[in-house]
Amino acid sequence: MFGLPKKVEFCSRCTLSNQRPVPVAEFKTKKISKKKGNVINKDLVCNACKFADFKANYINWDKRETELIKLCDKYRSKGNNEYDCIVPGSGGKDSRYASYILKYKYGMNPLTVTWAPHIYTDIGKKNMDSWTEHVDNYLVTPNKNVQRKLSKEAFLNLLHPFQPFVFGQRFAAIKVAMKMKIKLIFHGESPFEYGVSNLKEANSNGFNQYYFCGSQKLNDIYLGGKNVNSLILKYNFRKSDLLHYFPIDKKELKKFKINYKFLGYYLNWNPQEIFYYVSKKTGFLPNPERTEGTYSKYASLDDKMDGFHYYTSFIKFGLGRATMDTSQEIRNGLLDRNEGIDLVKKYDGEFPEKYFEEVLNYMDIKKDLFWKTINKFRPKHLWVKRKSKWQLKHTIYEKK
Ligand SMILES: [Zn+2]
Repeated sequence: MFGLPKKVEFCSRCTLSNQRPVPVAEFKTKKISKKKGNVINKDLVCNACKFADFKANYINWDKRETELIKLCDKYRSKGNNEYDCIVPGSGGKDSRYASYILKYKYGMNPLTVTWAPHIYTDIGKKNMDSWTEHVDNYLVTPNKNVQRKLSKEAFLNLLHPFQPFVFGQRFAAIKVAMKMKIKLIFHGESPFEYGVSNLKEANSNGFNQYYFCGSQKLNDIYLGGKNVNSLILKYNFRKSDLLHYFPIDKKELKKFKINYKFLGYYLNWNPQEIFYYVSKKTGFLPNPERTEGTYSKYASLDDKMDGFHYYTSFIKFGLGRATMDTSQEIRNGLLDRNEGIDLVKKYDGEFPEKYFEEVLNYMDIKKDLFWKTINKFRPKHLWVKRKSKWQLKHTIYEKK
């Protein structure tokens, strides 16, 4: 259904499988490098784990930091009060850390740009407030009526209720940068570390700015699995209602030469250390209770829809939030693989009950239709119905 490999295989290092729509896990048995005899044979190892090895063994972090300082020197506004860079984010731990160290350690004057969540959680709101105790922020809030309808379409047509949000968020910072003529943007961790087909790409230091470009013709643009023209007709939208979600015109962007970098390329990005740092220095609050679907308390907390993003991924790919969290913590040496597998067994795919009613109301979907849609998107090679209960055919814990 999503072009997934029919045979489910798990990484021998972490808890990921090869069932992802992006080539997160390319299961090959190559050596990383002959240089230090770092042999990974026979076992299946995903690219994210291979890249973690590469990062641990072959990167000179002092040299990388020097590169960062050089880059900052080139763009620094030198106290004339103009913003010299943008940090996109929601005030979660990564964007907080990025903006805080850029400002207080590297002497930059960052503007933070937030694409508003669908429905704020209390903790998300508190964190947003305390973030702006330290940095300036532009909050981009789309028309909620439009966002809600797009999320519903994306849920029904793609089982991806977050897709319109992802588009809005992807383009928000670069659109603000163009308007304000700010030429440097810092993303935290490289998104390619977990979703690439080769190490070279994983090791890239930023986005090519044309990554954000696309056709401006309405016939070519799709949102929530539907062509934009059909959405305009169905909901009586205006084109201007949807501009947030459109890609950027290549010709237009060419004039700006925006440098979109990953701070995680320059600095060794350890999520747990970052969590401690932002808690201590910036008043970041974790969830008071365990987040549904996983064991952790400190990632993706600001949107009541978050749990449904992970739950729908679990249905489509058999990989839930606990899989994502454990695979990362295993790579960072915080868990061993067996501990990770136990946590996956315990929490992966747990239904996000807490905000269920609110999310149904938000998308204007009845419970029946919700479950009908969920079941429609279960790939046959992943799911089986036994005694009127849906079960995954292959799990990492059955093989342990
Ligand atoms: Zn792995």
